[in-house]
Amino acid sequence: MAQDSYLYALSSNNAWAGYKAHQNPNFFPKLASGQSPQILWLGCSDSRCPETTILGLQPGDVFTHRNVANIVSPTDINTAAVIEYAVAHLRVRHIVLCGHTACGGAAAALASSSDGGGGGGNKRLGGVLDTWLTPLRALRSAHREALDAIADDAARAVRLAELNVEAGVRVLMENEVVREAVRDRGLEVHGCLFDIGSGRIRDLGIGTRPKRTVRGSGTESEEVRGTHGQLVFNGSGASLAVR
Ligand SMILES: [Zn+2]
Repeated sequence: MAQDSYLYALSSNNAWAGYKAHQNPNFFPKLASGQSPQILWLGCSDSRCPETTILGLQPGDVFTHRNVANIVSPTDINTAAVIEYAVAHLRVRHIVLCGHTACGGAAAALASSSDGGGGGGNKRLGGVLDTWLTPLRALRSAHREALDAIADDAARAVRLAELNVEAGVRVLMENEVVREAVRDRGLEVHGCLFDIGSGRIRDLGIGTRPKRTVRGSGTESEEVRGTHGQLVFNGSGASLAVR
Protein backbone atom coordinates (compact mmCIF):
# COMPACT_ATOMS: atom_id res chain seq x y z
CA MET A 1 0.00 0.00 0.00
CA ALA A 2 1.38 3.34 -1.04
CA GLN A 3 0.17 5.20 2.03
CA ASP A 4 -0.10 4.43 5.73
CA SER A 5 -3.48 2.71 6.04
CA TYR A 6 -4.55 4.74 9.08
CA LEU A 7 -3.77 8.06 7.38
CA TYR A 8 -5.54 6.83 4.28
CA ALA A 9 -8.60 5.91 6.38
CA LEU A 10 -8.69 9.38 7.95
CA SER A 11 -8.50 11.13 4.59
CA SER A 12 -11.13 8.76 3.24
CA ASN A 13 -13.39 9.64 6.20
CA ASN A 14 -12.90 13.31 5.44
CA ALA A 15 -13.93 12.81 1.83
CA TRP A 16 -16.92 10.67 2.86
CA ALA A 17 -18.15 13.26 5.41
CA GLY A 18 -17.87 16.00 2.80
CA TYR A 19 -19.74 13.92 0.23
CA LYS A 20 -22.56 13.01 2.64
CA ALA A 21 -22.96 16.62 3.81
CA HIS A 22 -22.98 17.84 0.21
CA GLN A 23 -25.55 15.21 -0.75
CA ASN A 24 -27.78 16.02 2.22
CA PRO A 25 -26.87 19.01 4.44
CA ASN A 26 -29.24 17.72 7.11
CA PHE A 27 -27.68 14.23 7.28
CA PHE A 28 -25.20 14.79 10.12
CA PRO A 29 -27.31 17.27 12.15
CA LYS A 30 -30.15 14.73 12.09
CA LEU A 31 -27.77 11.89 12.97
CA ALA A 32 -26.43 13.89 15.91
CA SER A 33 -29.92 14.44 17.32
CA GLY A 34 -30.35 10.78 18.31
CA GLN A 35 -30.76 7.21 17.13
CA SER A 36 -33.78 5.01 16.62
CA PRO A 37 -32.48 1.93 14.79
CA GLN A 38 -34.97 -0.82 14.03
CA ILE A 39 -32.41 -3.59 13.71
CA LEU A 40 -30.00 -5.12 16.20
CA TRP A 41 -27.29 -6.97 14.30
CA LEU A 42 -25.22 -9.67 15.95
CA GLY A 43 -22.44 -10.70 13.62
CA CYS A 44 -18.83 -11.72 13.20
CA SER A 45 -15.93 -9.30 13.61
CA ASP A 46 -14.63 -10.40 10.19
CA SER A 47 -13.63 -7.34 8.14
CA ARG A 48 -15.63 -8.66 5.19
CA CYS A 49 -18.93 -8.49 7.09
CA PRO A 50 -19.57 -4.80 7.88
CA GLU A 51 -23.29 -4.99 8.60
CA THR A 52 -24.38 -1.48 7.57
CA THR A 53 -22.44 -1.69 4.31
CA ILE A 54 -23.58 -5.16 3.24
CA LEU A 55 -27.19 -4.31 4.12
CA GLY A 56 -26.97 -1.19 1.97
CA LEU A 57 -28.08 0.90 4.95
CA GLN A 58 -26.79 4.06 6.58
CA PRO A 59 -25.37 5.21 9.92
CA GLY A 60 -28.23 5.23 12.42
CA ASP A 61 -29.97 2.20 10.89
CA VAL A 62 -28.33 -0.73 12.68
CA PHE A 63 -27.33 -1.21 16.32
CA THR A 64 -24.46 -3.65 16.38
CA HIS A 65 -22.51 -6.20 18.32
CA ARG A 66 -19.82 -8.22 16.58
CA ASN A 67 -17.40 -10.73 17.99
CA VAL A 68 -15.19 -13.54 16.77
CA ALA A 69 -17.43 -16.09 15.00
CA ASN A 70 -20.67 -14.34 16.11
CA ILE A 71 -21.02 -16.52 19.20
CA VAL A 72 -24.00 -15.75 21.45
CA SER A 73 -23.31 -17.12 24.92
CA PRO A 74 -25.89 -16.62 27.68
CA THR A 75 -23.19 -15.70 30.21
CA ASP A 76 -21.40 -13.17 27.99
CA ILE A 77 -22.21 -9.86 29.69
CA ASN A 78 -20.95 -7.88 26.70
CA THR A 79 -23.46 -9.42 24.29
CA ALA A 80 -26.16 -9.35 26.98
CA ALA A 81 -25.68 -5.63 27.61
CA VAL A 82 -25.96 -4.83 23.90
CA ILE A 83 -29.12 -6.95 23.60
CA GLU A 84 -30.68 -5.36 26.67
CA TYR A 85 -29.94 -1.81 25.54
CA ALA A 86 -31.17 -2.45 22.00
CA VAL A 87 -34.33 -4.30 22.98
CA ALA A 88 -35.43 -2.62 26.22
CA HIS A 89 -34.25 0.95 25.57
CA LEU A 90 -33.97 1.45 21.81
CA ARG A 91 -36.88 -0.95 21.25
CA VAL A 92 -35.55 -2.42 18.00
CA ARG A 93 -38.05 -4.43 15.96
CA HIS A 94 -35.66 -7.07 14.68
CA ILE A 95 -32.69 -8.98 16.01
CA VAL A 96 -30.57 -10.41 13.21
CA LEU A 97 -27.96 -13.00 14.10
CA CYS A 98 -25.79 -13.46 11.02
CA GLY A 99 -22.97 -15.91 10.42
CA HIS A 100 -20.96 -16.06 7.24
CA THR A 101 -19.09 -18.29 4.82
CA ALA A 102 -15.32 -18.69 5.16
CA CYS A 103 -15.45 -17.83 8.87
CA GLY A 104 -12.02 -18.19 10.43
CA GLY A 105 -13.61 -19.05 13.77
CA ALA A 106 -15.53 -21.95 12.25
CA ALA A 107 -12.42 -23.17 10.43
CA ALA A 108 -10.40 -22.98 13.64
CA ALA A 109 -13.04 -24.92 15.57
CA LEU A 110 -12.97 -27.62 12.88
CA ALA A 111 -9.19 -27.83 12.81
CA SER A 112 -7.73 -30.97 14.28
CA SER A 113 -4.40 -31.52 16.01
CA SER A 114 -3.76 -34.43 13.66
CA ASP A 115 -3.75 -34.12 9.89
CA GLY A 116 -6.79 -35.24 7.96
CA GLY A 117 -9.36 -33.96 10.43
CA GLY A 118 -11.98 -35.98 12.17
CA GLY A 119 -10.16 -38.21 14.61
CA GLY A 120 -7.65 -35.87 16.21
CA GLY A 121 -8.05 -33.62 19.19
CA ASN A 122 -8.73 -29.90 18.92
CA LYS A 123 -5.99 -27.83 17.40
CA ARG A 124 -4.90 -25.33 20.04
CA LEU A 125 -4.70 -21.68 19.07
CA GLY A 126 -3.31 -20.49 22.38
CA GLY A 127 -4.32 -17.48 24.43
CA VAL A 128 -7.98 -16.76 25.09
CA LEU A 129 -9.19 -17.94 21.66
CA ASP A 130 -9.48 -21.60 22.65
CA THR A 131 -11.79 -20.60 25.50
CA TRP A 132 -13.81 -18.30 23.29
CA LEU A 133 -14.30 -20.95 20.60
CA THR A 134 -15.41 -23.64 23.08
CA PRO A 135 -19.11 -23.35 22.12
CA LEU A 136 -18.20 -23.90 18.45
CA ARG A 137 -16.10 -26.94 19.35
CA ALA A 138 -19.00 -28.28 21.39
CA LEU A 139 -21.21 -27.95 18.30
CA ARG A 140 -18.56 -29.70 16.25
CA SER A 141 -18.54 -32.61 18.69
CA ALA A 142 -22.33 -32.79 18.90
CA HIS A 143 -22.64 -32.90 15.10
CA ARG A 144 -19.38 -34.70 14.34
CA GLU A 145 -20.88 -37.41 12.15
CA ALA A 146 -22.85 -35.03 9.95
CA LEU A 147 -19.95 -32.60 9.68
CA ASP A 148 -17.42 -35.32 8.87
CA ALA A 149 -19.73 -36.53 6.10
CA ILE A 150 -19.19 -33.22 4.28
CA ALA A 151 -16.11 -33.73 2.14
CA ASP A 152 -15.47 -30.13 1.19
CA ASP A 153 -13.68 -28.06 3.86
CA ALA A 154 -15.43 -24.81 2.93
CA ALA A 155 -18.87 -26.47 2.91
CA ARG A 156 -18.17 -28.07 6.31
CA ALA A 157 -17.26 -24.66 7.75
CA VAL A 158 -20.47 -23.21 6.30
CA ARG A 159 -22.50 -25.98 7.93
CA LEU A 160 -20.82 -25.32 11.30
CA ALA A 161 -21.54 -21.60 10.84
CA GLU A 162 -25.22 -22.47 10.26
CA LEU A 163 -25.29 -24.66 13.36
CA ASN A 164 -23.67 -21.82 15.30
CA VAL A 165 -26.38 -19.39 14.18
CA GLU A 166 -29.08 -21.92 15.15
CA ALA A 167 -27.51 -22.33 18.59
CA GLY A 168 -27.25 -18.55 18.99
CA VAL A 169 -30.88 -18.04 18.02
CA ARG A 170 -31.88 -20.61 20.67
CA VAL A 171 -29.91 -18.61 23.26
CA LEU A 172 -31.59 -15.40 22.09
CA MET A 173 -35.05 -16.97 22.35
CA GLU A 174 -34.30 -17.90 25.98
CA ASN A 175 -33.06 -14.42 26.87
CA GLU A 176 -35.62 -12.90 29.25
CA VAL A 177 -35.47 -9.39 27.74
CA VAL A 178 -35.96 -10.85 24.27
CA ARG A 179 -38.78 -13.19 25.38
CA GLU A 180 -40.70 -10.30 26.92
CA ALA A 181 -40.35 -8.14 23.81
CA VAL A 182 -41.37 -11.01 21.51
CA ARG A 183 -44.45 -11.61 23.65
CA ASP A 184 -45.42 -7.99 24.35
CA ARG A 185 -44.63 -6.13 21.15
CA GLY A 186 -43.82 -8.67 18.45
CA LEU A 187 -40.03 -8.36 18.36
CA GLU A 188 -38.71 -10.63 15.60
CA VAL A 189 -35.59 -12.78 15.85
CA HIS A 190 -33.89 -13.94 12.64
CA GLY A 191 -30.98 -16.22 11.84
CA CYS A 192 -29.12 -15.82 8.57
CA LEU A 193 -25.88 -16.41 6.75
CA PHE A 194 -23.84 -13.98 4.66
CA ASP A 195 -22.25 -15.52 1.58
CA ILE A 196 -19.06 -13.52 1.11
CA GLY A 197 -18.55 -14.93 -2.37
CA SER A 198 -21.80 -13.46 -3.71
CA GLY A 199 -22.57 -10.69 -1.21
CA ARG A 200 -26.00 -12.19 -0.55
CA ILE A 201 -27.59 -12.82 2.84
CA ARG A 202 -29.61 -16.03 3.14
CA ASP A 203 -32.36 -16.24 5.76
CA LEU A 204 -32.17 -19.59 7.54
CA GLY A 205 -35.84 -19.62 8.43
CA ILE A 206 -35.26 -19.87 12.17
CA GLY A 207 -36.19 -17.65 15.09
CA THR A 208 -39.62 -16.09 15.49
CA ARG A 209 -40.59 -16.27 11.85
CA PRO A 210 -41.60 -19.95 11.57
CA LYS A 211 -45.31 -20.12 12.22
CA ARG A 212 -46.65 -22.94 14.31
CA THR A 213 -49.81 -23.34 12.36
CA VAL A 214 -51.10 -26.38 14.18
CA ARG A 215 -51.51 -26.87 17.91
CA GLY A 216 -51.92 -30.14 19.74
CA SER A 217 -52.57 -32.72 17.07
CA GLY A 218 -49.07 -32.96 15.71
CA THR A 219 -50.49 -34.37 12.49
CA GLU A 220 -49.63 -31.29 10.45
CA SER A 221 -46.30 -29.57 10.38
CA GLU A 222 -44.33 -26.86 8.69
CA GLU A 223 -40.97 -27.50 7.14
CA VAL A 224 -38.20 -24.98 6.68
CA ARG A 225 -35.50 -26.22 4.35
CA GLY A 226 -31.90 -25.09 4.53
CA THR A 227 -28.97 -26.06 2.35
CA HIS A 228 -27.95 -29.03 4.43
CA GLY A 229 -30.97 -29.80 6.52
CA GLN A 230 -34.55 -29.10 7.29
CA LEU A 231 -36.37 -27.84 10.33
CA VAL A 232 -39.73 -29.42 11.00
CA PHE A 233 -42.20 -27.61 13.22
CA ASN A 234 -45.21 -29.42 14.56
CA GLY A 235 -47.54 -29.20 17.52
CA SER A 236 -45.02 -30.51 20.00
CA GLY A 237 -41.95 -28.53 18.92
CA ALA A 238 -39.23 -28.38 16.31
CA SER A 239 -36.66 -30.80 15.06
CA LEU A 240 -33.70 -30.50 12.75
CA ALA A 241 -32.88 -33.14 10.19
CA VAL A 242 -29.41 -32.95 8.69
CA ARG A 243 -28.65 -34.61 5.40
ZN1 LIG B 1 -16.28 -15.05 11.09
